Amino acid sequence: MPVLVMKFGGTSVANLDRIRRVAKRIGVEVAKGYDVIVIVSAMSGKTNELVGWVGETSPLYDAREYDAVVSSGENVTAGLMALTLQEMEIPARSWQGWQVPVKTSSAHSAARILDIPPENIMAKFAEGMRVAVVAGFQGVSPEGRITTLGRGGSDTTAVAFAAAMGAERCDIYTDVDGVYTTDPRISPKARKLDRIAYEEMLELASLGAKVLQTRSVELAMRFNVKLRVLSSFEEQSDDAGTLVCAEEEIMESKVVTGVAYSRDEAKMTLMSVADQPGIAAAIFGPLSEAGVNVDMIIQNISEDGRTDMTFSCPTEQVARAENALKKAVEAGNIDYGHLVADTNVAKISAVGIGMRSQSGVAAKMFRTLSDEGINIKVIATSEIKISVLIDRKYMELAVQALHDAFDLDKAG
Ligand code: ADP
Ligand code: ASP
Ligand code: MG
Repeated sequence: MPVLVMKFGGTSVANLDRIRRVAKRIGVEVAKGYDVIVIVSAMSGKTNELVGWVGETSPLYDAREYDAVVSSGENVTAGLMALTLQEMEIPARSWQGWQVPVKTSSAHSAARILDIPPENIMAKFAEGMRVAVVAGFQGVSPEGRITTLGRGGSDTTAVAFAAAMGAERCDIYTDVDGVYTTDPRISPKARKLDRIAYEEMLELASLGAKVLQTRSVELAMRFNVKLRVLSSFEEQSDDAGTLVCAEEEIMESKVVTGVAYSRDEAKMTLMSVADQPGIAAAIFGPLSEAGVNVDMIIQNISEDGRTDMTFSCPTEQVARAENALKKAVEAGNIDYGHLVADTNVAKISAVGIGMRSQSGVAAKMFRTLSDEGINIKVIATSEIKISVLIDRKYMELAVQALHDAFDLDKAG
């Protein structure tokens, strides 16, 4: 029988009523003849609570124990979902990551899925089981320890299962009815897209649109998984939601497809760095070794052999970055005046594959922000995106102004 993967996020399984409602939706697909792999998240708010408990118990926690605690929210919903389906007389059972097994790397709290052998689940389907409910977000390392895949990781579990099981489709059920031109909670004018290209979704996700975890889009693109985002709160037709697909399958041709934002960005400036060959390597080498994800970089004009170097990184990595730079100074590898960390910034990005062939997008973006009196602190561009750092207090205004400027509320 054909296999379908259905993933339900935290708000979709937030209480027993919602679990029952979702189970009915699963029943519809079972009745159509699919063997279904259901991936569940923890009940909404649960993972945050668990993360909080870990931090309170041990500020510099052992990441292996963090994973042991934080993965547990998904175990509860997987079991409850299997029980609910059984109550509806649908043959179902739950699986924790290690039982499948979902084999991952040992990078605790940010592990990567390496392999999902399909045999165990397939054997159960062959015996008549119709739904395998799998706890999302978790796996097992080569050392036999429980791992988690990073926040939002259940999306990645779902796509990885779709690839491993050769599923017909991977449906991501969430609390919005698809992928929008920007976060519908920020801009009332946001428009739902019928389709979006993998590349664009990948950029939007990595620039802050948390509707899909970045890694899930990467996997979908690599394994050509038919990926759909849709609402678990509405009756759904077969073409509901947004299809994430290859660029060739899309008719709409706008220069900019979406606007993303990220609150969790910090701007770090090294003041008065000795400007000499090898200085960038001496700064960014240690940062990379310390696992700091540097995004934007600018180096100012140098005067008297000294320069300022600015870069951005996730806010939660500021302490790690400071530590790595301090060690590099102590080792005599770099020399700077002082380090300024600005955590009151936000990153706003415009994304679209149309930018490859059309110029003027950056100019329009900068003009729009300047018309609103918003100062740009750092700029970064790539083939299909332009990102700027601005004061966080202007974040929503900037998103809305850019959404208007690029006519994203209108289909094109
Ligand atoms: P789940 O718990 O189902 O995984 P998430 O909260 O992780 O749900 O992701 C869904 C949320 O993503 C939406 O509620 C919405 O606020 C946010 N979001 C951000 N950008 C977008 C976008 N471009 N389109 C749709 N939703 C977006
Ligand atoms: N429960 C995890 C989180 O909140 C994983 C997920 O929901 O995708 O990050
Ligand atoms: Mg999510």
